[in-house]
Formats: sequence, structure tokens, C-alpha cells
Amino acid sequence: MTHAHEGGCACGAVRYRTTGKPVRVALCACTWCQKRTGGAFGISVYFNDADVEFLQGSLRKHRLTSDAGRWLESRFCEACGTTVTWTLELRPGWTGIAGGTFDQPTYWYDLEAVVFARSMPDWMVIPDGLDVHDAMPGHPSVTEPGE
Ligand SMILES: [Zn+2]
Ligand SMILES: [Zn+2]
Repeated sequence: MTHAHEGGCACGAVRYRTTGKPVRVALCACTWCQKRTGGAFGISVYFNDADVEFLQGSLRKHRLTSDAGRWLESRFCEACGTTVTWTLELRPGWTGIAGGTFDQPTYWYDLEAVVFARSMPDWMVIPDGLDVHDAMPGHPSVTEPGE
């Protein structure tokens, strides 16, 4: 049997279901994630597109271009504004799910990596055992939010 997990936005209008395991889970402290969440970091839970199904509600899209020149598209609930999902030009075929939007038990997935550690607040402590990158893995000099 395949594991399915559901979640949604703050007001409940948007609902989704994911199937199976994520392809990547990263905590991202890039400035884009800080702005779009209003918090210190985003939790990016990526699935293959085929493993994410949107069940109800209407998502608005907003696209912007990173410093590296690639687009990032966030999709948020029309009613309450919660960013539920996004896609990145850098990661074709992957759908990012905002890690805090899953139903209980919300944090059922394992965190693998921290990216953009350089823009974390000073008080943030990273647990042992994670793969930590100052910026984007493989492109240390490039500011590329979203992973
Ligand atoms: Zn909503
Ligand atoms: Zn980010």
C-alpha cells in the first residue's frame, strides 16, 4: 500500500494529497522563503509532479525571477493567501509542498538538508546530521532561492 498524506491552506479552501515519499526535503532560509512565509525559513517538501493531486480550492500564481535569472512560481490560496505549493525552473518535474501545510502529523517526513544557511538568523540552531549548504548545493556563488 502506498502512503498518502493530505494537507491544505489556513482557511481550508485549498486541499491536496501527496502519494509516496518526497524526492527531497530541505529547510530553506533564502530571502525568498523568508519573504513568502514571513518567517525565518521555508520547509520545501518536493514530490514528483505525478505524486501531487490538488483536490479542491483555487490557487493564484505569482512568478518572479531569482538573482540567477531563473523563475520561481509560488501558488497560494485565493481566499487566505497561504502559499501551499511552488515550482522552480531549476527543478523541472518537481512540485514543492510547503512543509507546514500537511495535516497532523505534519512533520511525517525526514528533513535532509539546510540550504541558504548564510541568511539564517543568528539564533537558529541546526540539528546534527543534516546536509548544510551556505547557498545552493553545487552553486555556492549563486543566489538561487527555493530549494
Ligand atoms: Zn485558504
Ligand atoms: Zn528558499
